[in-house]
Amino acid sequence: MYGDAQSFPGFVWLVGAGPGATDLITVRGLRLLQAAEAVVCDDLVDPGLLQNCPAACERHFVGKRAGCHSASQSQINALLVARASAGQKVVRLKGGDPLVFGRAGEEMQALREAGIPYEIVPGVTAATAAAAAAGLPLTHREHSSAVVFVTGHQCAASTAATDWSALARLRATLCFYMGVRRLPEIAANLTAHGMAADMPLAVISEAARPAQQILTGTLRDAEKLSAGLIGQPALVVVGEVVRLASFAATVPALRARANPSVHVLR
Ligand code: SAH
Repeated sequence: MYGDAQSFPGFVWLVGAGPGATDLITVRGLRLLQAAEAVVCDDLVDPGLLQNCPAACERHFVGKRAGCHSASQSQINALLVARASAGQKVVRLKGGDPLVFGRAGEEMQALREAGIPYEIVPGVTAATAAAAAAGLPLTHREHSSAVVFVTGHQCAASTAATDWSALARLRATLCFYMGVRRLPEIAANLTAHGMAADMPLAVISEAARPAQQILTGTLRDAEKLSAGLIGQPALVVVGEVVRLASFAATVPALRARANPSVHVLR
């Protein structure tokens, strides 16, 4: 926990909602929702989770889909500070884990500057949810000793540009968030820096949701895989471990659920 909860009536919990299924939030996250006085919610979060909040709880939707920002980051920061300053118990609900491409760093900074105490409650991030969906191990003693979470969407203002040469040489499992639209570019960068064109990859969309879809191929198939994708959000996994994916075991289990479709490209 950061700050002095005793001397400040308001408090903010930055809570990871998980990848989509409403039962993939942590028990702690759920309990906090049940006691919340205000919830500030992203659009990757299943709105069904808000049914756990008390009827009187204020609900603020601040979703930020690619290209259409409904609230700027500074407006969200100001909202969190305002609600906590008014003495409310605020849950800031974010898709996946708040500390993985979740802009939690900016929100924590704003809260610290305003002297508001806060705590972070982790969530199931898209990479682990997608790996579970595809039945692929992110690490394997013989194939991959590291996992890298990479953004496929480098905004112009970013100072942390992707080091493609390092990524191509790592012999790690690469998980690209926000990367599906740029998949051909990602594949071209990796092969240009020495990664084999037959390196397997998987695109897993809407992991842990009823419309979950898994496409597999190699870096050579990047165009086809990017064009063939139906659902969003989606995660791209590149690495030898994709060969170990247990699609055969996963498919029957998925079929039993509500209308998932699994396509395997070879
Ligand atoms: N904080 C989130 C990531 C937010 S960035 C987390 O920890 O998961 C948004 C990106 O996450 C999307 O563009 C997509 O790449 C990925 N993502 C989020 N939910 C997903 C899901 N259910 N299935 C596949 N990818 C998902």
